[in-house]
Amino acid sequence: MLPLDEHTIRASFVNASRKEVTDLTLPTDFADLRWESLDFLGWRDPKLAKRAYIVVPVDGRLVGVVLKRADVDPRTRAQCQWCQDITLPNDVVLYSAKRAGHAGRLGNTIGTLICEDFQCSTNARKLPPSAFLGFDREAARDTRVRGVQERAAGFAAEVAAE
Ligand SMILES: [Zn+2]
Repeated sequence: MLPLDEHTIRASFVNASRKEVTDLTLPTDFADLRWESLDFLGWRDPKLAKRAYIVVPVDGRLVGVVLKRADVDPRTRAQCQWCQDITLPNDVVLYSAKRAGHAGRLGNTIGTLICEDFQCSTNARKLPPSAFLGFDREAARDTRVRGVQERAAGFAAEVAAE
């Protein structure tokens, strides 16, 4: 994705109150992010427990979503819904997002199981093992990356839909 500045990030949120946007703290490694290797920006708030954010490109616009981590983690090792069939080096947790607008004010939320620290872009870019003779590992990796982009955008669009 293209590099974002702080103002653009804060202005992108579709399901946040003004206070939530004001309280937001950028990722600690914000200045060193390698944007070209990210399909979306996702991070846990360094100061607020259970609070996390994603900013996702959706059809040429940016959709920022405030997430709340579930109080209880999945009991068994879960599969990330965005990475899907990739073997993961990290934990997967349940995050939920309040829907934008009226539905959100009524308490309507959407949940998704995803990598704890939003490592999906990194995981998808690892070259997969060869599945069979002549297996095109680069093509398989490109498919995974596109899959993460599509699923992240799909989730953000669903949150934003009013
Ligand atoms: Zn993931």
